[in-house]
This record gives sequence, C-alpha cells and structure tokens, in this order.
Amino acid sequence: MRLTDISYVKRLMASHGITFQKKFGQNFLINPMVPERIAEECGAAPEDAILEIGPGIGTMTQYLCEMYEKVVAVEIDRALIPVLGETLANYDNVTVIEGDIMKTDLKALFAEHFSDKNVTVCANLPYYITTPILMLLLESGIPLDNITVMIQKEVADRLCAAPGSAEYGAVTASVSYYAEVEKLFNVSAGNFLPAPKVDSAVVRMRLYKDKPVKVANEDMLFRVIKSAFGQRRKTLINALSSGMGEFTKSDLSEAIAEAGFAETIRGERLSVAEFGRLADVLWTKKSQK
Ligand code: SAM
Repeated sequence: MRLTDISYVKRLMASHGITFQKKFGQNFLINPMVPERIAEECGAAPEDAILEIGPGIGTMTQYLCEMYEKVVAVEIDRALIPVLGETLANYDNVTVIEGDIMKTDLKALFAEHFSDKNVTVCANLPYYITTPILMLLLESGIPLDNITVMIQKEVADRLCAAPGSAEYGAVTASVSYYAEVEKLFNVSAGNFLPAPKVDSAVVRMRLYKDKPVKVANEDMLFRVIKSAFGQRRKTLINALSSGMGEFTKSDLSEAIAEAGFAETIRGERLSVAEFGRLADVLWTKKSQK
C-alpha cells in the first residue's frame, strides 16, 4: 500500500494513536509522483546506499527501498518507529534508526552501515532545521556522493543564487565550496498533509571529490565568508573589519587589493573562488604576524 492516500494515512496514524507533530516539522507527502521523482533523481545508482533523514511514515522510503540496494533512515519521532515497522515490513534492505540526525555520530553510522558503499542522502527535510542539517552533512567530512533534499523554496533559491543577486548569501558561498548545486523542481504546498504555509523545491548537491577551490585554511575561508555577509550593506572592508578583529583596517585594505578587488567592493559580489583568494592572502598575513 502506497502511503499517499489521505484517508489511509489518517487511519494508519489513528490506529497507532499518533498525530502530526509540528515541533518536528511533520508535513507528509500525499502526491505519489513527488517522492517517486525525488527518489529517481537523487543521483544514486541502483547499487548505492541511501541515508534518509526523517522518513516520517515511510512514504518516500518505500520508493528508495525499491530503487536502491540499501536504505538507512534516521527518524527523531519515537512514535513513528512502530508505524515504520508496519509500512516497511515488506522490505529487507532498510534499517530504521530512532534518533536526532543533529546528534547522530555520522562516522560511526557510516562505519556500521555503509563501509563498502557509495552513499547519497535523500530527504524531505523538516523546514525548522534545514540549513543546520545541510551544513552538518557537508562539514562532517563523511564521504557522500549527493545530498538531494526537498526544502523551503526560498532556501532552495538561495542555495542556487549567483554572486551579486539578492538571494546570494553566506550559505550559498559556503555550500558551493563543497558541492555543485542544482535545483530539480518546485513542489507546491498542496502536495503535503498538513499543507505547510510555504512552497518547497528539490535541490541536488553533487559533492566534489576534488574541490575546485583550494585554500590554505578552511576556517579562514568560512570566517571571511561569515564576516562579509554579517553586515551585508557595508563594503567588504568595513564588514571584515567588524568581523575579523585580528586584522587592522590597513591589513584588510592591503589584502583586498592584493586579492585583486576594488577597495569599494561588497562581499555579496564575490564567488567562493574569490573568497578563497582573499582568505589565502589573509592567512599568509596572519602567519607572518
Ligand atoms: N519523509 C516524509 C515524507 O516525505 O512524507 C516526512 C517528511 S517531514 C517534512 C520531516 C520528517 O523529519 C518528520 O518525520 C520528522 O519527524 C523528521 N525529523 C524532524 N527533525 C528531525 C531530526 N532532527 N532528525 C531526524 N528526523 C527528524
């Protein structure tokens, strides 16, 4: 039985005595074409493994189990674990783990379940915690091929934005250091039960095996990016001088010129490669202090 039939979902939940938990961002998919398409386009090959975050009642999990060799699904809501036991009973290639993905030891999870496999993350993420989950996955250093997620449409547009556009921000530049980001399709609010207040979109991040931007020190790169966007309306030099106290204004002015930018440039115009250039100049200056 597919899990997109509204009256079936309501009966299933009533039979387990549970209701939708707003605090966990529970909006379940009710249009079968959506989970099927996300599963199909997530970027994995049939012999690959999938890490699903927040399987809910197992709607997309069923498609993932049918398309890929192995699925591990981490669900925070304890009340959904027996439901998943029922809805996934016919699949022998899935492991459900009760837990908060933000507190999960990903390296241990990988060692236990994925040691010999290529892994793609595929998820309909809860809105309340989208960016922290994405940054956790990217920064954890776990070997992922793709992260394909449904997220709030505005966040998806931000992730795909070009330097200089209104949507471009610290998250865009940071994510583009790790992965090539592509928006796959939009999903309107009516495809969920209960319907959220916002529309969604699916994005696929293909993680670089060999990062095109190489920097001397990653922490310096991320501090530069964060500071540059901390004070968006200021010029880069003023934003950096508020955010990076260890450099004098004349250090920063020299570094900006050395990296090849005009003194008046704003941070929002810089690509991650350009932030990388500036971070390397600052790293050299810091090492010489
Ligand atoms: N995958 C289902 C679907 O597409 O219908 C449900 C998606 S729903 C938007 C988000 C799911 O993530 C819920 O099942 C929720 O309980 C779960 N969740 C929320 N926060 C979580 C966390 N920190 N770790 C793991 N799962 C979480």
